Amino acid sequence: MTDQRSEQIAANLGKVRARVASACAHAGRAPDTVTLIVVTKYFSADDVRRLAALGITDVGENRHQEAAAKVAECAGLGLRWHFIGGLQSNKAAAVARYSDVVESVDRPKIVTALQRGALDRTEPLEVLVQVSLDRPDHDGRSGVRPEELLELAALVDQQSMLRLRGLMAVAPLGEPPAPAFARLAQFHDGLVGAFPQATALSAGMSADLEEAIAVGATHVRIGSAVLGPRQEFV
Ligand SMILES: *Cc1c(COP(=O)(O)O)cnc(C)c1O
Repeated sequence: MTDQRSEQIAANLGKVRARVASACAHAGRAPDTVTLIVVTKYFSADDVRRLAALGITDVGENRHQEAAAKVAECAGLGLRWHFIGGLQSNKAAAVARYSDVVESVDRPKIVTALQRGALDRTEPLEVLVQVSLDRPDHDGRSGVRPEELLELAALVDQQSMLRLRGLMAVAPLGEPPAPAFARLAQFHDGLVGAFPQATALSAGMSADLEEAIAVGATHVRIGSAVLGPRQEFV
């Protein structure tokens, strides 16, 4: 699909890729060590097709109904679908059937529900555990508390149809991203120490991808910087 919207997305993608390359250069990393996930929540299946035509291989969604519909509409594009949103245990089995990676695993009940759904798959489901970077006295964005991270990761690791691949986090509100991502990097070191295959570190969004790449993010999740502002209504 090539039209005016495609050209706009292509221009935005160029800017984001340049930011990633520059952040990698600053960190002494090769640019191909960072995978760009374009977050397509609130945007149409047509935009997903435009992204695929522009060479994007990984997309992210955060709401079950919207994700399920878009995955079905965009079948055959060879995309990897990352589920990055809060999970309800009664939806998790369904999410496990159509996602390639679930990045937002934050409690034991979700692990067992994902395993149940993943039993219908031919290939194991890739899983990242989401850790909270909130200070203990702050009201949480979601994620497992750091002191419970290894226990939750072990539960993922025990499931026959789940593959523990790494860690995900969102920068907390009310604090600059750099120190929070520095804590994240320590949590990731601890995780990899216990589970050497958990090498993925998904961190960094439109506003803070540089800070995430500086501490070793292997995946950045970029929405608005590529697709523009979202029409969110809650
Ligand atoms: C929406 C979302 C993003 C993308 O955010 P932008 O600021 O638009 O880049 C990344 N990660 C998660 C978990 C999200 O929900």
